[in-house]
Amino acid sequence: MRKPREAEAFREYERVLRYRKSEHVIWEQLGNLAQVAFVFPNSYEVASSSLAWSWVQQLLWREGVGVERFFYEPWFKKFYSMESQRPIDEFPIWMFTFQFENDLLNIANLLIRKKIPLRASDREEFHPIIFIGGPVTLFNPRIVSEIADVVYVGDFECAVSRVAAVIKEFQRIGRTNVIEELAKLDQVLSKVAGKESFKSCISPLEDVPVAHYTTPYSVFKNKLLIEVGRGCIRRCAFCVTGYTKKPVKFANVNRVREVLLKHRDREFGLISATITDYPYLDELLETIESEGIKFSVSSLRVDGVTERLLKLLKETEHYSFTIAPEGISQKMRDVMLKDLNTAEILSGLKLARDVGFYNVKMYFIIGLEEETEDDYRELFDLLSETLRMGYRRITLSVNPLVPKPCTPFYERSMISKKEYEERLKYIKKNVPKDVLLEAESYKECYLQYQISKLKDEETLEFLKEHLDKTER
Ligand code: SF4
Repeated sequence: MRKPREAEAFREYERVLRYRKSEHVIWEQLGNLAQVAFVFPNSYEVASSSLAWSWVQQLLWREGVGVERFFYEPWFKKFYSMESQRPIDEFPIWMFTFQFENDLLNIANLLIRKKIPLRASDREEFHPIIFIGGPVTLFNPRIVSEIADVVYVGDFECAVSRVAAVIKEFQRIGRTNVIEELAKLDQVLSKVAGKESFKSCISPLEDVPVAHYTTPYSVFKNKLLIEVGRGCIRRCAFCVTGYTKKPVKFANVNRVREVLLKHRDREFGLISATITDYPYLDELLETIESEGIKFSVSSLRVDGVTERLLKLLKETEHYSFTIAPEGISQKMRDVMLKDLNTAEILSGLKLARDVGFYNVKMYFIIGLEEETEDDYRELFDLLSETLRMGYRRITLSVNPLVPKPCTPFYERSMISKKEYEERLKYIKKNVPKDVLLEAESYKECYLQYQISKLKDEETLEFLKEHLDKTER
């Protein structure tokens, strides 16, 4: 595509190109004029840290569908694709992966900026088809039921061949017929096509999802992402993963090994709800150890760490590791169904210290009605004990409970801003020095809480209030 001449569009174009040039691409399938714009409605850094942004594109490529990636920046106006830098207006089908509740605002902003009516039933034949799927639609598809022409619920692998077959007919049958054909799929909710019933589907994970590129901008800096597990065997009461992605699926260890060996010159990011629950972890670590492969993990449970895992992680991660005890005391972990005790936390921390980690980041959730001062005292004791082990820095990351649909905490309400700030002040005053407190923004968490519960028309009402007035 010819470079834009207008200053702002040129800046936007250059930004997209800069990210594109940062990518080390392993394979891709360009060529035909792509029909599908695959949008991750967040920044490039967030998008490229998600395997989904690559994997869905690969699944469509395999089916012979031309698809290009897009990401979102609040100042973008044209929205150029990563692959060819074509503007999004040229694509007749816009597929969004809805990974985080707050991205709803970005989806809506993008539509408004491109003059697409927010309400699906107000769109006409010349508008793009708005197709929305992803983890948020799995636990509450009705958030976007009025906005999307097609809401897809569940893993994309389940129906990608059928979705692709319909999309490929777009030029011949046109927008309305494509929506009607997609609405025939079990996994699809489409109000504009009069289809309100749907059945979600979880894929058996027969393939091992592997990203097709790496980039230094990802949270997993230059690492090749590979998914080893989907869903979680645990049922923590605040977490949708344990309640929506059922049954849990694990990738075949031999296939994972093949990928590691094939790309052994690269570093890997192993993606799963908790790597320590992967049943074939020991076999995998054997290959990693014998081949000298470097890797990091998206998440681990402190009660599952072993000396071998920590030693291997340390070769890549050097000094820091992250754990999520979540509950500030044993009582609170029990309330949260966290299934983790203080002795297990301390023993994991000790092991990590012994293999040479100096810094640890710990995640906690506060703001439940059962909390008392005693619980906070237990947190401070845990931090002091951790420092006594010889850790140089502890990052204490705190966020308020956000009660989510599909979880046992759904009926709870969220703590008030005032109360949250008071509890943070109390923590700050009492944590041992050398502990760095990082608190999640109440505003962002409350937004997440509100959006996660929205249904149908409520979403449009909500957006009317929350979108930047100048955008509407
Ligand atoms: S918090 Fe972690 S361990 Fe608990 S259900 Fe969610 S993913 Fe699983």
